Amino acid sequence: MITPYSTDTVLAHEGRTHNQLGAPVNPPVYRQSTLLFNSLEALKTASGTPSAYGRGGSPTTRALESALARLEGAHRAMLTPSGLSAITLSLLAVLGPGDHLLMTDSVYDPTRAFCGETLKRLGIETTYYDPSIGSDIAALMRPNTRAVFVESPGSLTFEVQDIPAISRIAHQHGAIVLMDNTWATPLYFRSFEQGVDVSIHAATKYISGHSDVLMGAILTTEAIFPKINRLYRQLGMTVSGDDAYLALRGLRTLSIRLERHQRNAHALTQWLSQQPEVARILYPARPDSPGHELWKRDFTGASGLFGVVLHPQSDEAMRAMLDDMSCFGMGYSWGGFESLILRSNPTSARTATQWPWEGPLLRIHAGLEHPDDMIADLESAFLRLRATAQIPIEA
Ligand SMILES: *Cc1c(COP(=O)(O)O)cnc(C)c1O
Repeated sequence: MITPYSTDTVLAHEGRTHNQLGAPVNPPVYRQSTLLFNSLEALKTASGTPSAYGRGGSPTTRALESALARLEGAHRAMLTPSGLSAITLSLLAVLGPGDHLLMTDSVYDPTRAFCGETLKRLGIETTYYDPSIGSDIAALMRPNTRAVFVESPGSLTFEVQDIPAISRIAHQHGAIVLMDNTWATPLYFRSFEQGVDVSIHAATKYISGHSDVLMGAILTTEAIFPKINRLYRQLGMTVSGDDAYLALRGLRTLSIRLERHQRNAHALTQWLSQQPEVARILYPARPDSPGHELWKRDFTGASGLFGVVLHPQSDEAMRAMLDDMSCFGMGYSWGGFESLILRSNPTSARTATQWPWEGPLLRIHAGLEHPDDMIADLESAFLRLRATAQIPIEA
């Protein structure tokens, strides 16, 4: 149940395991495989429950699970070894041979690979849909459509989806809604209040927040929990006490980190929007970005990840721009305290829609560095781009 506490207080309080006097604020790290029982009766009581054996979790993992569930208003949470495993496990649990899945065309690319190979091999058909489809998704529902998967905003292309409309239609047709809610975190998108049944997080990103943990989290309603939990147990999914401890430690500061990531993303996008090479900013928190109205209606904040579409550039100019950046690193992640920049190409990862932009797409994560230093780094990068880009034009 949701307590009267506000989110910030839940972040500080939830997931403390010890209430006795003199107990540490933080739950200790439990490293455990074998658990000992001192009587046949005690062994029998534990038998078949998660507390019979280390794989069933520990007070450390349960502390993190309860904190995440409380934050987003879920019935329960399950922790997995990565965000991707949280997605694939959830899909496997709710779909079976002959079932049909509706999948947003903006989905995280490895999810697409799983649908195209593993789900297909199991006789589960996937149809990709335009992320902006809204209630028109009704036309794609089939009698065997069991699940609709949403990711909003798309973590590469930043389309905002009309989750309440999609959820309403899905439920009318007896399908459930699974959401990759990594971008907004439990703080900025209250998925269960918007009709989502399963909210999935790459806790690798903002929840742990320090680029040193890989983890996923599956949060569900009471109705869906038993189904996913059964497969979770059968597949032997578990995370270590050390990783759970790190993620819980990161979680404590999620609210203040997100505030700063958001502020820095606004500063960077404001500066970027004034550069002549920039064709479009994809940051739903900005009024000039696609999806702003839906974002304003449904979200309570924006994190620090956004896209920048440039006017067409040569590969040589892009190399000159992005090699040797100082404040920004290049890497396939985000959500940590550090700033990142990545060149990407969404064209190849689409089947239901066409990516409308011709020029290169940069995905930028605004970290916690000072925005002046980040902007100075970007400014140098744009100067290198300009210097290189001008050569063929003047020749
Ligand atoms: C990173 C990411 C994942 C996968 O998380 P891992 O922990 O890297 O497996 C899933 N969805 C989104 C949107 C992501 O950005």
